[in-house]
Amino acid sequence: ASVQAARSAEKEKAHAVCLPAPAQGHINPILDVAKLLHGRGFHVTFINTEYNHARLLRSRGASAVAGVPGFRFATIPDGLPPSEDMDVTQDGDSVCRSIEETCLGPFRRVLAELNDPASGVPPVTCIISDSVMSFSIEAARELGVPYVHFWEASAASYLGLRHYRLLVDRGLVPPPKGALTTEYLDTPVEDVPGLRNMRFRDFPTLVRATDPDGDFMLQLALRQMEHATCASAVILNSFDDLEGEEAAAMEALGIAKVYTIGPLPLLLASSAPCLSSALSLSLWMEDHGCLPWLDAKEPGSVVYVNFGSITVMTNEEFLELAWGLAHSRRHFLWIIRPDLVKGQTQAAALLPPEFSATTADRGLVASWCPQKEVLAHPAVGAFITHSGWNSTLESICTGVPVISWPSCGDQQTNCRYQCNEWGVGLEMECHVRRDSVRGLVTELMEGDRGREMRKKAQEWKEKAAKATTKHAGSSHRNFDNLLRDVLLPRP
Ligand code: UDP
Repeated sequence: ASVQAARSAEKEKAHAVCLPAPAQGHINPILDVAKLLHGRGFHVTFINTEYNHARLLRSRGASAVAGVPGFRFATIPDGLPPSEDMDVTQDGDSVCRSIEETCLGPFRRVLAELNDPASGVPPVTCIISDSVMSFSIEAARELGVPYVHFWEASAASYLGLRHYRLLVDRGLVPPPKGALTTEYLDTPVEDVPGLRNMRFRDFPTLVRATDPDGDFMLQLALRQMEHATCASAVILNSFDDLEGEEAAAMEALGIAKVYTIGPLPLLLASSAPCLSSALSLSLWMEDHGCLPWLDAKEPGSVVYVNFGSITVMTNEEFLELAWGLAHSRRHFLWIIRPDLVKGQTQAAALLPPEFSATTADRGLVASWCPQKEVLAHPAVGAFITHSGWNSTLESICTGVPVISWPSCGDQQTNCRYQCNEWGVGLEMECHVRRDSVRGLVTELMEGDRGREMRKKAQEWKEKAAKATTKHAGSSHRNFDNLLRDVLLPRP
């Protein structure tokens, strides 16, 4: 009888379907949202692409994707041909095209299966979708359930893209072929509603398209941004002290309601009792050996270097970085993803033997690590980063100042805010040189500016913790309001 009772209680629950884009930087934050909802009594279905699900099975084992009571996985195909190599980041353009063209049908089928009374799970009551997967708004409409649009980057980057027209009106885009000189990129762009002290280079790089009408990724992004204005709500992995004004500027553009509920890792740590670390969806095998290595280092003495899951660089840039690190004479932990260098599948093997010999006593190279734990380690004193939004927030949560070397997407905007608005970072020039790497590391670890940035980073860490404090924190309150106003079905 008690099993029966548990089953029928389960069927009474609200049921959130969470749909991340199939990339690590998108899976992590939406997984946090899913865990938060589970912690609040929701039944959760988390949707992976078949390709990523297979990778997770390999990197984390069957238990990672078996689910737990009330938290289940489902899969949809991404529509791309099968791939031999399971360790390589999928090409962003191809996967986005394929998602747009093929995923709505399979997604509808998953929803129909979940809503079948024989499924044993409660009917779907809301869809939380990554903006990249916003084709799902159609399915939410058909079911008559709220569609929550997760803009997984910063509010500032949303504004930067959304104001594309304004850049057109000011004659900055489309840039004529060959116009993107340093001078052009440095053009100040003033009076963009919600944005501060921007140069043209600080806008998300999609705006640089030379043939905007023919640029699939730009057009797709602009359509996805429009979807935000039709959503029941938009959620942001950000917090009011950091981006309250930018979030308000988003609402002023016609979005029903923007809820800032970040930094999600901290909100999760302060709220959900059970699923916090038990469930993690890392697409690469994590090397935990770097943690004991860090244990043996002095506080604040290690430079941590990681460019996330997608960014690639040329062989020349890779070597300049390597020698810059070597010449800095600092301890460093460098995460070299196997596909970090363009066209390579074993990037770490490109490090010259002299580099390894010179740095053997100071450096550790690994291919993937538990980043949040690494950043939280007291030995880490600086972070050389591509400024992906998750990495940006994770460094804020842990009070680690950065050297930012943005490459594409929203990273430019994040870099600008880190370095110019929040005072927690130094910007690396786009053509990386060993001398500048050495100089920036020295400045951040020993210089006056570095000292100032460490102080600022600590202040932001405290503000992030405050935003996610149970009950009183702004993100905590916003999450409660999201449940009350949007996600819990009204009687
Ligand atoms: N990450 C990790 N280990 C690594 C590299 C990255 O766990 O070695 C995680 C990192 O903590 C972050 C995500 O992967 O949550 C990367 O997201 P981000 O937005 O920083 O960059 P992207 O990969 O999307 O460019």
